Amino acid sequence: MHEVAPINPWVALAYLASGILFILALRGLSSPASSRRGNRFGMIGMTIAVVTTLITHAPWKSGDAANSYVGIDVTAMAEILGAIAIGAIIGIVMARRIAMTAMPQLVAAFHSLVGLAAVAVAAAAYLNPGAFHIADEIGQIFAVSRIEMGLGIAIGAITFSGSVIAFLKLNGNMSGAPIMLPARHVINLGTLAAIIGLVAYFLTDQSPWVFWTITALSFLIGFLLIIPIGGADMPVVVSMLNSYSGWAAAAMGFTLGNTAMIITGALVGSSGAILSYIMCRAMNRSFISVIAGGFGADDSGGGAGGSKEQRPWKPGSAEDAAFLMSQAENVIIVPGYGMAVAQAQHALREMSDMLKKEGVNVKYAIHPVAGRMPGHMNVLLAEANVPYDEVFELEDINGEFAQCDVAFVIGANDVTNPAAKTDKSSPIYGMPVLDVEKAKTVLFVKRSMGGVGYAGVDNDVFYMDQTMMLLGDAKKMADDIVKALSGSGH
Ligand code: NDP
Repeated sequence: MHEVAPINPWVALAYLASGILFILALRGLSSPASSRRGNRFGMIGMTIAVVTTLITHAPWKSGDAANSYVGIDVTAMAEILGAIAIGAIIGIVMARRIAMTAMPQLVAAFHSLVGLAAVAVAAAAYLNPGAFHIADEIGQIFAVSRIEMGLGIAIGAITFSGSVIAFLKLNGNMSGAPIMLPARHVINLGTLAAIIGLVAYFLTDQSPWVFWTITALSFLIGFLLIIPIGGADMPVVVSMLNSYSGWAAAAMGFTLGNTAMIITGALVGSSGAILSYIMCRAMNRSFISVIAGGFGADDSGGGAGGSKEQRPWKPGSAEDAAFLMSQAENVIIVPGYGMAVAQAQHALREMSDMLKKEGVNVKYAIHPVAGRMPGHMNVLLAEANVPYDEVFELEDINGEFAQCDVAFVIGANDVTNPAAKTDKSSPIYGMPVLDVEKAKTVLFVKRSMGGVGYAGVDNDVFYMDQTMMLLGDAKKMADDIVKALSGSGH
């Protein structure tokens, strides 16, 4: 066993403080009302962790063993600070420029970087174990470090290649529909078994071929696991990769001997896993079948956007919508991805304010995977100051559509598609959906009859008798409805 230098109590205290701040951050982020505060806790925690790490590994630290901290010594402080400055500038510019709708792919891109960093750290430690104090005098890497390294590289590489595919799918560079390889389960299981076997073998043989084969196979499995996932399962994948990136960071923490990184990685890993579980439950999917890679998806692709029969549908205008909603007693608004693209949330709030003034009872129904990231709609509605008590989760409001006069669907599609309840060949089959078709009237805002949602499937609600299609950009339509409402004498 290698001896572990005692941790300076001040360092331990600082890392504990940052760990607590991260927990408070997660707690804060669980509600839109406290999310800003949560973010601030996270930022302070991360600043403490980074500064403490830099100070304790800096060349000017005390050479006295009791005051030092196990791990590597940083001698290239100027390079590190330079890299932090470059990263910070890129981060600030991206955060300012990024459109809210591009957030999911940005998050996927960040996850890929965490995975790549884990691979880079494991590779650096493998190539120069002495510098990381993880090898004996003759260069044999300690057993425990080999396990950490093997796991770090495997999880890191899977996170990297999986996140790159998720990025390409979310960014529209690759089809969102599942891509099915023949015999994919056999290939995946074989690759996974080979990785596990090689990580175990790495304990007895630290030859480069073992290390690099684990790396290559892990890159491959990340790619193989994510390409068959499409449509309704994508949200689970995004949160699962989030979880993986946490475990990859925790593995890096072990290699670098950094407690703060282990704590942070474990927090991200476990919260991501919990979120994936919640998303799976919301989507009525089994966790195992999603991570096994498109297990639940049908090989036919579920008729993704192919030839659509011409069916009659009823067009409507902003004036029609204003009239119908102002006469209604209950209106339920169903926002989706299109509302986010159009940034229609402010206009939507204005519209519902006017309806409320006319005595209409207005509620918002939020599907757990509406938009392109968990909590997407909640964030946008909070930004537009929609009161939280008007916003309802699927299970709390679904029973009310049958009694409501108007379901106003704005930029949502898949989350309202009844095929999820009836059509076994649909890629969204089994996912709970908002029962908008039960409302007396459905107003559906989207830009064209040809446009499909993320899963690429047609929606029967468009062609129902009680449905009126309001074709146009979501923001423009909401603005026009506001104008029509204000012109109606109120
Ligand atoms: P959908 O992607 O199903 O539908 C969006 C609709 O918005 C389309 O019908 C589109 O039609 C319309 N639209 C697009 N732009 C505009 C615009 N500017 N103005 C008006 N309408 C517009 O969205 P949903 O929110 O219903 O469903 C989310 C889907 O995304 C689900 O399949 C979910 O599984 C998936 N997903 C969710 C993630 C999450 O974490 N929430 C992550 C990844 C995927 P048209 O082009 O005709 O305008």
